[in-house]
Amino acid sequence: MEHMQFEEIRALDEKYLAQTYARYPVAFCGGHGATLLGTDGKEYVDFGAGIAVNTFGVNDEEWKKAVVAQLNAVQHVSNYYYSEPTARLAQMLCERTGARRVFFGNSGAEANECAFKAARKYSRMRYGEGRSKIVSLNMSFHGRTLFTLTATGQDAFHRNFGPFVPDVLSAPPTLEAIGAIGGVAAVVIECVQGESGVIALDPAFVRALAAYCRKKDILLICDEVQCGNGRTGKLYAYEHYGITPDLVTTAKGLAGGLPIGACLFFGDADVFTAGDHGSTFGGNPVACAGGISVLERLNAEFLLEVEGKAAYMRAKLKGFDGVEDVTGLGLMIGLKTAKTAKDVALACLERGLLVLTAHDRVRLLPPLNITKTEMDEGLSVLKGVLK
Ligand SMILES: *Cc1c(COP(=O)(O)O)cnc(C)c1O
Repeated sequence: MEHMQFEEIRALDEKYLAQTYARYPVAFCGGHGATLLGTDGKEYVDFGAGIAVNTFGVNDEEWKKAVVAQLNAVQHVSNYYYSEPTARLAQMLCERTGARRVFFGNSGAEANECAFKAARKYSRMRYGEGRSKIVSLNMSFHGRTLFTLTATGQDAFHRNFGPFVPDVLSAPPTLEAIGAIGGVAAVVIECVQGESGVIALDPAFVRALAAYCRKKDILLICDEVQCGNGRTGKLYAYEHYGITPDLVTTAKGLAGGLPIGACLFFGDADVFTAGDHGSTFGGNPVACAGGISVLERLNAEFLLEVEGKAAYMRAKLKGFDGVEDVTGLGLMIGLKTAKTAKDVALACLERGLLVLTAHDRVRLLPPLNITKTEMDEGLSVLKGVLK
């Protein structure tokens, strides 16, 4: 296929797409692993993985084989019927986490939307009305639908979109603040906050919160949309904290590059019955085939490799001039830098490295199968840019 030149693509985008994204001036047309090929003919090392989506980078043979096999069988059936890859992926998620059941949607926002609805139903069934609050943390990010946007604890995302969903509010990450709120159905946390700058929550706070929620029968929701699926060296980041949530939501990296969202119900939080919730594309067999392939490979041995890579990158980054702090967990890395995050990202792009930003930080979320050579190439660009 003939590829369009970058300037033609940009012109079409600017003319026809809603201008909701401040894009970097580059388009990609191929690649392999953590190396992307630009339409400019240049190669880029990818420290972003499409925002933690491309778990095994691009063009991964094993993943493609699983997805194409399902594509060659049947691409969609509707939720009026049963579907093997959908049922199998749910089984894998439950067996790996101890969850009882799974609901599939297509995005992180949809997964959270499902968890919030489930929490409200749980609370309503047990305690009646007046106990419907969903409490999130300041600086959190939970999605762009109105329910999840309301729960997103950053005012910058809220401008112009009110009125918001009632009984959804954010609080500082302290037990005092959360304990002072009455009528709470659920608390939602990201064990590692992604969009606010890659901040791992304090383990003592998370454990105290989990104990408090258990005591009050408030459901604890772990939003693992970004920090889940092997990213931190555990299948789900809450495992680092030694807690058992009631609901876990995930999406981004789960299917390795296809749209998927999942809400995992633990124990009595499994409250939905026929007609309560739905999603036309939810549990799509092609996406689920991708998810099965990803989960099969996120085994103990591979997760150890992720930890090793994370330790390697973190040690190097800590030694770079211009790095003031290295945050996050595993291959979810935040950098507080002397230069502004945006300047760093633009300078890296110029030199063939893709990095992300989050709030005031540089954010690195490389594919989990990134090679040593790709890490070294990217790190050497970063070193030059940061000093
Ligand atoms: C990206 C993200 C979401 C929203 O996911 P979408 O797929 O964009 O709807 C929700 N929560 C967290 C923690 C995220 O990082």
